[in-house]
Amino acid sequence: MTPPATPVRNSNAERDIANVLHPYTDHRAHAKNGPLVIARGEGVKVWDDQGKEYIEAVAGLWCASLGFSNHRLAEVAYEQMKKLPFYHAFTAKSHEPLIDLSEMLIERAPCAMSKVFYANSGSEANDTAIKMVWYYNNAIGKPEKKKIISRLKAYHGITIASGSLTGLPANHKMFDLPVGDRFIHVSTPHHYHGAKPGESEADFATRLAQELEDTILREGPETVAAFFAEPVMGAGGVMVPPATYFDKIQAVLRKYDVLFVADEVICGFGRTGNYWGCQTYSITPDIITCAKALSASFLPISAVIINDRVFQGLADGSSTIGTWGHGFTYSGHPVAAAVALETLKIYDELNIVEHVNKVGAHMQAKLRERFEGHPLVGEVRGIGMVAAMELVADKGAKKNFEPSAKVGPRLAKLGEAEGVILRGLANDTIAFSPPLIMKADEVDEMVERTGRALDALA
Ligand code: PLP
Repeated sequence: MTPPATPVRNSNAERDIANVLHPYTDHRAHAKNGPLVIARGEGVKVWDDQGKEYIEAVAGLWCASLGFSNHRLAEVAYEQMKKLPFYHAFTAKSHEPLIDLSEMLIERAPCAMSKVFYANSGSEANDTAIKMVWYYNNAIGKPEKKKIISRLKAYHGITIASGSLTGLPANHKMFDLPVGDRFIHVSTPHHYHGAKPGESEADFATRLAQELEDTILREGPETVAAFFAEPVMGAGGVMVPPATYFDKIQAVLRKYDVLFVADEVICGFGRTGNYWGCQTYSITPDIITCAKALSASFLPISAVIINDRVFQGLADGSSTIGTWGHGFTYSGHPVAAAVALETLKIYDELNIVEHVNKVGAHMQAKLRERFEGHPLVGEVRGIGMVAAMELVADKGAKKNFEPSAKVGPRLAKLGEAEGVILRGLANDTIAFSPPLIMKADEVDEMVERTGRALDALA
């Protein structure tokens, strides 16, 4: 049921309006319309506090990979809480969940990696990766090599540093982040909007690699430290890169000795049809950041996986100073680590990559079949179990609606009425990133409900 326009007195909605400051929310609209209060979840569905059922088309925030009712994870958390609810990892303290999880992540990494550091969110993982890159270059005697390049429309988080990596206007406007100083953005690898008339995907990729090289040369290669990229850009609009893009980008980075940081916060753990997005695009990163599906989002935990080159720099720096002065109280929290470890075991047992390939192929086909011909849809794109459809006012001209038309939020609202939770991104792009455990018939139901909502918008 859509939340009441005038909340019932003392209802959840009224108490929410009175007390909660929501992330990513228009606070004035929230005060008028109230929240959607989710009360429980089962499988790929959630129910609101009025008892209405919804299919979760985005797994919450691209993260509830095993859905909303995996009791095995709940039990592992409970057992770990009884055994050792907290211990930290500062000053070389450790515990078994931390050791086991790190060993497993190193084994699973898409290329030879050396060590794993933990944080609580994707933003903190990327923030940490930035600090590692800076520290590393100081330690190896290259203190001027500090600039970081990421892409327009990238999403890497919202802390002061990771928010500066992010390439979305809403995350910069009015926040006064240090964008443009050490943080530089290059073009989005999105052929649909970015290509010149008649330009092939391969030529488009070559042009973007040239743009990267020109940027590095303009800034001075001795000042450029790292390139951050999501294998498939998620929150910026699910942009699947041209096939040759990352090969060409990596050739430029190698030429100028620029580190590659792969943000696998959405792509990691099967989402793109391989265990890592890096494998889908033959990326050999120096650093990987991951979160979300790492613990199926049953508890907050993120990881930064580094290669030996980076580790040696950090180790040299720490022995000069006497410590590596970075870490969170909850870095490698034992309960979160135990849940993450169990999550990875469950992925193995479910053959999650194989499942994503099978159901993902069905999902991509179904979305194209239902929406590609729709007058309001400009492009349907995606890979594995991540996809998007972009809504347009003029299909031929690939022209989006004016922001004031608010078609994304309106479709999300119509979706709620049809029993599907949709997420509208920038440029009126609607994301699909359901729990990885979603089955083919549930995909059909998700597409069906979304289709009814879109028809109602037309
Ligand atoms: N990186 C990517 C690719 C993400 O999609 C996100 C969140 O959606 C983040 C980083 C930030 O993660 P968090 O919201 O946990 O800070």
